[in-house]
Amino acid sequence: MKETIQLTKEESIKYIEVFDHNPISKWYKNNVCLIGGAAHAALPTSGQGACQAIEDAWHFSSMLEKSKTTESVFSEFQKIRFEKTTTITMSGRDFAKSLFNEDLTFCEQRNENAKITDYKTASQNIAKLWSKNLPK
Ligand SMILES: Cc1cc2nc3c(=O)[nH]c(=O)nc-3n(C[C@H](O)[C@H](O)[C@H](O)COP(=O)(O)OP(=O)(O)OC[C@H]3O[C@@H](n4cnc5c(N)ncnc54)[C@H](O)[C@@H]3O)c2cc1C
Repeated sequence: MKETIQLTKEESIKYIEVFDHNPISKWYKNNVCLIGGAAHAALPTSGQGACQAIEDAWHFSSMLEKSKTTESVFSEFQKIRFEKTTTITMSGRDFAKSLFNEDLTFCEQRNENAKITDYKTASQNIAKLWSKNLPK
């Protein structure tokens, strides 16, 4: 990994800026409803932006199939999606703060914590969050 980074030429690196946004309390107004990144943009460190956009589309279309009123579909959609997407956005932000932190003391402590982390439990917890509100 270190070697790959060292051998990469500067001109081969494309710099991009990435942003998330704070959770939005209401995703809809009149006949417009935000979904995907427009409703809950998360940093790439969440690893879930596109996944959550796809989940939105699935939930949204499932609700529309039940032919309720637009207002009730929108409010139910946000109700079922808000907590999960907010948790993912905020954890992506926390992970970025830790991953790209430049404070030496913080990094040393972070690296020590990484050595004693129970990755089996950690990955089970992540899987539990990522599969929330999805069919078994
Ligand atoms: C570096 C990086 C790595 C990532 N890695 C992952 C990953 O590993 N896993 C994962 O799940 N997600 C990842 N993502 C996140 C993922 O790319 C986004 O969350 C996802 O693309 C959001 O999909 P979307 O359809 O909601 O929005 P977008 O993909 O942003 O699509 C919105 C579209 O609307 C268009 N648009 C905007 N305004 C207008 C307008 N006024 N009129 C017409 N069109 C308009 C835009 O041009 C765009 O094509 C990553 C993102 C980045 C930047």
